[in-house]
Amino acid sequence: MDNQGLKIIDHWISGEEKEVSRMACDKNTKPFGNGMPDSIIIHYTAGKSGKSSAEYLCRKNVQASAHIVLDRSGHIYQLVPFDTIAWHAGKSSYKGRSGFNNFSIGIEIDNAGVLEKVGDKYKAWFGSLYSESEVVQATHRNEASPRYWHTYTEEQISKIFELCEALMDRYPTITSILGHEEISKGRKQDPGPAFPLDRLRQRFFDSREDTSANNDKSEGYVEVSSLNIREMPSIHAGLAASPLPEGTKVRILQEHSGWYKVEAVTEGWVSAQYVALKS
Ligand SMILES: [Zn+2]
Repeated sequence: MDNQGLKIIDHWISGEEKEVSRMACDKNTKPFGNGMPDSIIIHYTAGKSGKSSAEYLCRKNVQASAHIVLDRSGHIYQLVPFDTIAWHAGKSSYKGRSGFNNFSIGIEIDNAGVLEKVGDKYKAWFGSLYSESEVVQATHRNEASPRYWHTYTEEQISKIFELCEALMDRYPTITSILGHEEISKGRKQDPGPAFPLDRLRQRFFDSREDTSANNDKSEGYVEVSSLNIREMPSIHAGLAASPLPEGTKVRILQEHSGWYKVEAVTEGWVSAQYVALKS
């Protein structure tokens, strides 16, 4: 992908003033723990504009915040540095873990969310009206029938791909991208079906998990006498199980910056240099 030069310096996105604004949102001060963040959570703001949402989330008396708010032109507002926990996930759980603020970078995208048809217009919960060209009728992954949703702009979609790429380059602990709708199922609908969440994930994560187990390249064996298996692809991450002895057969589920996510007795991450691929 063509990265147009989003850089992260000292846990802040750096860029020209017209592309990036840094907002002082100093209510968040708690740093992430070791091996964190490991996820990116995608949200929509359900607000009127990116700027107004960013300003709202920065208020001292508001018990919510996010690392990034992305407006409809693709302009980035950064509110919280990436080494600090923000308050975007709320009550959340996924695959046995809860409290995703502690694990994740929160990206809020300026989008009105669910819309209601009123005459030939579509109305947001806060009263703004949108024309048909900004609306898609689609069924949410957690629902059974279609509703009307505000579309995301091309500038937003391309900026999100760019942002995720910059974040994952800078923070190799990040191994998943999830929607708020997936970690707060039933309570939240964002980013909703107008957002290409699955395409975003496909772009960054090798989908070996979904490919046939007969694929030769997806198996290997441990080449050293003892290999640590970790919860995250980082030497600082905790051990997922006892070290794997030499010769242990592993199925490779995913690859990330010199690490393989493997399935052996348990699932975890091992340094790829010690695994010989079956040929
Ligand atoms: Zn959300």
